[in-house]
Amino acid sequence: DTRHGPILYLEDVTVSFDGFRALDELTLYIDDGELRCIIGPNGAGKSTMMDVITGRTRPDHGAAWFGQRLDLLRMDETEIARAGIGRKFQKPTVFPNHRVVENLELAMAGPRGVWSALGARLSVEGRDRIDSVLEEIGLGEAGYELAGKLSHGQKQWLEIGMLLMQDPRVLLVDEPVAGMTHQEMDRTAELLTRLAGRHSVVVVEHDMEFVRSIARQVTVLHQGAVLAEGSMDEVQSDPRVVEVYLGE
Ligand code: ADP
Ligand code: MG
Repeated sequence: DTRHGPILYLEDVTVSFDGFRALDELTLYIDDGELRCIIGPNGAGKSTMMDVITGRTRPDHGAAWFGQRLDLLRMDETEIARAGIGRKFQKPTVFPNHRVVENLELAMAGPRGVWSALGARLSVEGRDRIDSVLEEIGLGEAGYELAGKLSHGQKQWLEIGMLLMQDPRVLLVDEPVAGMTHQEMDRTAELLTRLAGRHSVVVVEHDMEFVRSIARQVTVLHQGAVLAEGSMDEVQSDPRVVEVYLGE
């Protein structure tokens, strides 16, 4: 086996809020370069899991590793982002009054560079990077549009592009296709599939048709722990999964 082991590794992670366990001894491995879908009913702990990985929430106990060396529980949110874990929240948060290319420029600068980035001269490498990300996300023709004028789907892709400007090793994507048309969903599936391999991609998603269209490996969360894992066919025919989720 030539794998270098997991890129993300959560072990026995427990998070409680006033005694209620949002995550209950959750153990999860994400392999380097894989595309993983995480599904599960509302309240299953999906967002809390992402909060732990990105340093927003500290678990009561457990372990969380990035690669083999980085202990996520000893890093703050900024350090984790810098180390290469990018997160896309459900609602797109582009800068509506800036052009698409400017949004990418700002994302490249990162939080500290925002005020100096606009108006500053871009390096040749910076320009090339923006061009390649624009192509990657399918907005090659829309670079000079105001981000606020983009369609909902295009905004979501722009936001993925903004994450890509930091060249993350892991992309965490929360419900990317909520509110998208079928055509936009297909393009998103194609984009995320293309990104996996170069990056590891973890997608939390409710839309089963979409999950089926992209997923190789699916993890079903329930009550803060892994209920089932496998291909979409495997988890969909698991009676426990049918009971808690797909039959609801
Ligand atoms: P999902 O994203 O799978 O819908 P969440 O991770 O958002 O689930 O939430 C898991 C459970 O933890 C839910 O019951 C939710 O109400 C609870 N929870 C999440 N965040 C908090 C918080 N900050 N305070 C109290 N309860 C929370
Ligand atoms: Mg959630």
